[in-house]
Amino acid sequence: MADPMPRSSRNMVIAGGGTAGWMTAAALARFCRQGWTITLVESDEIGTVGVGEATIPMIRLFNQALGIDEAEFLRETQGTWKLGIEFDGWGAPGERYMHAFGQVGRGLGLLPFHHYWLRAHAAGRAGPLGDYALNAVAARAGRFAHVERAADSVLPPMPYAFHFDAGLYAAYLRRYAQGRGVVRIEGRIEHVERDGESGDVAALVLADGVRVAGDLFVDCSGFRGLLIEGVLETGFEDWGHWLPCDRALAVPCDRADPLIPYTRATARAAGWQWRIPLRHRTGNGYVFSSAHIGEDEAASVLLANLDGAPQAEPRLLKFRAGKRRKAWNRNVVAIGLASGFLEPLESTSIHLIQSGITRLLDFLPNGPVMDVDRDAYNRLTDFEIERIRDFVILHYVANRRDDPFWAAQRGMVLPESLAFRLDLFRASGRIIREGDELFDVPGWIQVMMGQGLVPERWHPLADALSDDHLDQFLSTVTDAFTRDAARMPGHADYLERFCAVSSIPSQSSIA
Ligand SMILES: Cc1cc2nc3c(=O)[nH]c(=O)nc-3n(C[C@H](O)[C@H](O)[C@H](O)COP(=O)(O)OP(=O)(O)OC[C@H]3O[C@@H](n4cnc5c(N)ncnc54)[C@H](O)[C@@H]3O)c2cc1C
Repeated sequence: MADPMPRSSRNMVIAGGGTAGWMTAAALARFCRQGWTITLVESDEIGTVGVGEATIPMIRLFNQALGIDEAEFLRETQGTWKLGIEFDGWGAPGERYMHAFGQVGRGLGLLPFHHYWLRAHAAGRAGPLGDYALNAVAARAGRFAHVERAADSVLPPMPYAFHFDAGLYAAYLRRYAQGRGVVRIEGRIEHVERDGESGDVAALVLADGVRVAGDLFVDCSGFRGLLIEGVLETGFEDWGHWLPCDRALAVPCDRADPLIPYTRATARAAGWQWRIPLRHRTGNGYVFSSAHIGEDEAASVLLANLDGAPQAEPRLLKFRAGKRRKAWNRNVVAIGLASGFLEPLESTSIHLIQSGITRLLDFLPNGPVMDVDRDAYNRLTDFEIERIRDFVILHYVANRRDDPFWAAQRGMVLPESLAFRLDLFRASGRIIREGDELFDVPGWIQVMMGQGLVPERWHPLADALSDDHLDQFLSTVTDAFTRDAARMPGHADYLERFCAVSSIPSQSSIA
């Protein structure tokens, strides 16, 4: 058996070349140039999960850290811009709301905006919350621009994310990583060798006999968790009782105009359907609970609700919501689907890959892996995914739909952390953000109100404004955002112009 790796530096071996594998490889290639050799093993024969096309704004930090040019990135991945997610029919059929990125309104005095809005809304003096979020106003108008504000501007920034083709994204990052020294080995991992003394993983052995030895292994092998579960038997914490959707059917269809700058999630009888607009096609999928609908019926529902001709047969994906008991076990760090999965409702999986990579870099061992580092990594990973889990559950639990699937969600016993948050909001309109949790007050308030949760009270200081002042304050906010959005170009036009050049044209930015 041949050993292709020189042993002069420490070896990091990535098992798997999906989005997780190539994001990890690209980041390590960028930041671990000294002292590490990076190898990635992937199998074309096995392939990747091939979905994962909507992101949240943090992806831009990842791209920036890698020095990726945005126009090139959008061209190479057939990407579009994303300002938020529209939830259609989630509270009740016929209702819709947006979870838009960025701020909602603006704070006044000591209070966040939503307390004033709650008071005005209760008195019938306010429009829907989305009228007071710039991203929602721009998204509904189908507009987009790179918004640069003067330091003293009272208008908020307009954070954005991307939609992109998952296959093209992984290919793009592969070129990036290989161009910076990552060694790619094609082959099926058939056997894993462990060190007889420590029990750590020592090497991957491929079907053709090639042996890939390493000091640290990153398991990016997808749902199967080849190393973290298949070899180390780490265990899986199943969250199916909170998130019962366990299947998805995915199908691309022809692009339909207008090219909206947001993802749409439409509630269906036994789950929900996603719609992700790309430059060359639209990504669609039905995420459903197999206990409530069969695969054939789900496929019919999906195909009946496309707004373009399907480009393939629907593809079935099976999954379980939950997480690995330890994302880092021995000398194996699981990143991506190998570490756990939450359905793509809030587009958080790629973000979890990104934060896993950031943490791996934070805790990069300077010698043997230390228990305390590993424990810290796992503690932070657990906190992050548990809080995102709570946010995703929120969309299901507060609903007024009749279907058996939705009725069952209303009755679930909530995780304690979410139950506390809902109690607090119901009683006083307060929302707290703990530690480094991903979603902030504007995200929670938009989904809570969108799902129809109405608190009994708001902060007493919101009563200090006279009715006239309150009206004036709210209309100043919404008028400013409406004017701001009206000055932005249409999403499709701006995207084509932007992709035709290699950097942001300053005349298209609005100040
Ligand atoms: C229905 C659905 C929709 C989703 N939508 C979104 C979304 O909108 N936004 C978002 O952020 N995320 C989304 N995700 C999650 C996203 O798809 C994944 O996080 C992302 O694709 C990462 O997958 P991965 O790289 O971990 O696994 P995979 O893509 O499965 O890659 C696994 C890799 O391991 C390799 N491999 C496995 N076994 C072996 C072996 N024995 N030998 C050699 N190689 C092997 C495979 O060849 C492959 O290269 C979605 C997921 C699902 C299921």
